Parts: sequence; C-alpha cells; structure tokens
Amino acid sequence: MIIMGWNINKNKCLRCGACVSVCPKIALELSEHGIENNKNLCNLCGICEKICPVGAIKVNKNA
Ligand code: SF4
Ligand code: SF4
Repeated sequence: MIIMGWNINKNKCLRCGACVSVCPKIALELSEHGIENNKNLCNLCGICEKICPVGAIKVNKNA
C-alpha cells in the first residue's frame, strides 16, 4: 500500500542542507538527528526530493 506523505532515509542523508534551503514552506530543519520535517507546514510539493543528491527523501502525493 502506498501512503501519502514524506519520508527520509537517514542512512542515505549526507546532511548537506540542500533540501532545507529550497523548501518553500520552511518545513525542514537540520538537527543533530538529521533532517526533520514539520509535517504541519509541509505541502508535499516534492522540491526537496528533486534537489536531494542521494535520493534520501521520498514524497508521495498519491494516497
Ligand atoms: S515536500 Fe515541499 S514543503 Fe514539504 S518538506 Fe519538501 S520542499 Fe518542503
Ligand atoms: S538534500 Fe538530501 S542529503 Fe542533503 S540534507 Fe537533504 S535529505 Fe540529506
């Protein structure tokens, strides 16, 4: 089953911060735990997924 939402593979993430820079909703934060997403702000636009150089973010708009 495919579930609508945002997911990050923390093992792949380089903590480069590129996704934080491009997020139009300021929903992403780079913390000591890696990238965190404030899902109340996130609109699932997918820009972070496109900019990530290692494919660590997956955004699925289709419920
Ligand atoms: S999907 Fe869009 S709004 Fe959500 S975290 Fe990524 S860039 Fe930000
Ligand atoms: S762009 Fe990708 S690799 Fe860079 S911090 Fe974001 S999730 Fe991690």
